[in-house]
Amino acid sequence: MIDQPTPTPIEPAQRAAQLHTLLHRYAHRYYVLDDPEVPDAEYDRLFRELQALEAAHPQLLTADSPTQRVGGAVLDEFDKVRHRIPMLSIRTETDIEASGAEAFDARVRRELGLADGDPAVEYVAELKFDGLAMSLRYENGSLVQAATRGDGETGEDVTQNIRTVHQIPLRLTGTVPPVLEVRGEVYMRRDHFEQLNDKQREKGEKTYINPRNTAAGAVRQLDPNITAQRPLSFYAYGLGEVTPASEGGPDFQTHWNMLQTLKSWGFPVSAQTNTAQAATDLIAYHQRIGALRDTLPFDIDGVVYKVNSLALQRQLGFISREPRWAVAHKYPAQEQLTTVLAIDIQVGRTGKLTPVAKLAPVFVGGVTVTNATLHNEDEIRRKDVRVGDTVIVRRAGDVIPEVVGVLADKRVVGAAEFTMPRACPVCGSAATREEVNGEEGADYRCTGGLFCPAQRKQAILHFASRRAVDVEGLGDKLVEQLVDAGIIKTLPDLYRLGLTSLAGLDRMAEKSAQNVLDALQKSKQTTLQRFLFGLGIRHAGEGTAKALTRHFGNLDAIMAASLEDLMGVTDVGPVVATSVRAFFDEPHNREVVEQLRACGFTWEEGEPVPQTAKPLTGKTFVITGTLPTLSRDEAKDRLEAAGAKVSGSVSKKTTYLVAGAEAGSKLDKATELGVPVLDEAGLLALLPSP
Ligand code: NAD
Repeated sequence: MIDQPTPTPIEPAQRAAQLHTLLHRYAHRYYVLDDPEVPDAEYDRLFRELQALEAAHPQLLTADSPTQRVGGAVLDEFDKVRHRIPMLSIRTETDIEASGAEAFDARVRRELGLADGDPAVEYVAELKFDGLAMSLRYENGSLVQAATRGDGETGEDVTQNIRTVHQIPLRLTGTVPPVLEVRGEVYMRRDHFEQLNDKQREKGEKTYINPRNTAAGAVRQLDPNITAQRPLSFYAYGLGEVTPASEGGPDFQTHWNMLQTLKSWGFPVSAQTNTAQAATDLIAYHQRIGALRDTLPFDIDGVVYKVNSLALQRQLGFISREPRWAVAHKYPAQEQLTTVLAIDIQVGRTGKLTPVAKLAPVFVGGVTVTNATLHNEDEIRRKDVRVGDTVIVRRAGDVIPEVVGVLADKRVVGAAEFTMPRACPVCGSAATREEVNGEEGADYRCTGGLFCPAQRKQAILHFASRRAVDVEGLGDKLVEQLVDAGIIKTLPDLYRLGLTSLAGLDRMAEKSAQNVLDALQKSKQTTLQRFLFGLGIRHAGEGTAKALTRHFGNLDAIMAASLEDLMGVTDVGPVVATSVRAFFDEPHNREVVEQLRACGFTWEEGEPVPQTAKPLTGKTFVITGTLPTLSRDEAKDRLEAAGAKVSGSVSKKTTYLVAGAEAGSKLDKATELGVPVLDEAGLLALLPSP
């Protein structure tokens, strides 16, 4: 599908010209804008196609060919840094099998003129970190300049930004040469990247595609404060200009020795770096790292082999933009292109609806992927993913595969925008969009908590838990078995279990089966509070169950209570009230509650405890800044005692903002939304005297 062969054979020259245009465009997006348009695998595929064309038709090889250049242009906004020793690329071995390592070793041996009987060449094998190359210049032990690779000859001065990376020493320890340029990779850990994206989602902003480009974007920021907010890390792997041995500089014999010395001076050097003899060790290293790739805390796209002896490195030298003494041996790409066949909705154990893209099978990150998460409706809108689209899928580490971007210009005509279903695809109950802190949240949930098969196990476990009706001995495994065997479908089925079906389960002795039945029987003598809590109504914890019980006295009254009635209960705000109402509005849930009652649950039902009307019921307050006499907690306690709800963020539903000294963004937001603002005196005037 992506690999469409060109319909009519075209002239090599014409194809080469097409590839020039595409590769230049993609390289610009990647190197200059840090915002790639296609996955690396796609870029690499076109790059190889051009290399092959140029090899077959040498007249097509021009000096401005993308195959002849290192990296990208330098942004004008930064001061330029001329690299005294160029920062080159590394030849990539795309054959990800053992033969990739064998070919490199054979090439090195041939170029060194070694015969079959000659000793093995020693290498250093390192991880190929997927970040961006950095040259750090130290003078007399202090960091004086940090530069990007740029086009290899000239990079960008990003010293201010690099100073914010904690792993990069500003001062070195030990005896260091007067001039020392250390080269290494700035990268972003995967967990830091995920956290950053979680924050973006919370704020409703666009998510980043991958750690590599996020790290590159962070380093090439004009405002170091922004860089400082992006957690970056660093590994050292090489040298640039260094005071020569003849002038008192270090006299390294091997690459390995150099790395150990860098470590002693204070640079992070990867613990996964090893020496290796001949191709056999390289192959073993490639396999070992391949197996633990997913467990590394950062992305790698391969490993790098380097000839260990620096004398041999000098002998081997360079070819165009690459050293002959090093090679990058790749792993399967972690991003690929594929098409979206459908967008399905999955319902989680707690009823959360997650849109999932069904994909044309694609090999990514070492496995064939057919599903990828789209997170939620907002995220689909922001990325504008539609059925039929060509998308970038990413699978890295143990993170579930994700659709990270769409190739908009490959969209088929008439592809419709996605809309979230308003009914649960599993059980048909209403699906509603959640509120978080008084604002519209991103997730939809199925309201058929007790009825929905997707939520069955969770619902049963919760109902049986110690703080709910407490069925002793009914744990995870048993519920799993019972549900998977189809013995219980809904919660009331639990109370219809017989000894035979229980004792018939794997590894269940008759005695334990009887114990479970006894525990079930016993659990029916409970309290309304426990029963209510056990229903697992979203946002209704034990405290709410208690408040509702005290306020209404019996289950029928709670089930019949209007939103307003519910909001009149101490400690019940709009979120909880809406959720309780939605739960009992769902006929399926009511049915289950009735069936449970019919199983013989008993508790003492009381008369509602008369409540004196509270002056601030239904009103939502936000407190910000420092008040002159009341502490934040006192103000909150008194407001809640008066029936108000105290929320953490200002929205259009906020009744009042209480602002003290040094009120910040919340005050701005309130002003912007026209929410009335009170000072402490204004607040006290609304509160009944304590
Ligand atoms: P490269 O990134 O494949 O290899 C050289 C770089 O490897 C060095 O500059 C350094 O930053 C890094 N590196 C990591 N670990 C290292 C180690 N242990 N020792 C030495 N270097 C190490 O080569 P390149 O020519 O800079 O870039 C090509 C890469 O960029 C390809 O993966 C390509 O797919 C990608 N790219 C993608 C797009 C796109 O549109 N997606 C466009 C252009 C380039």
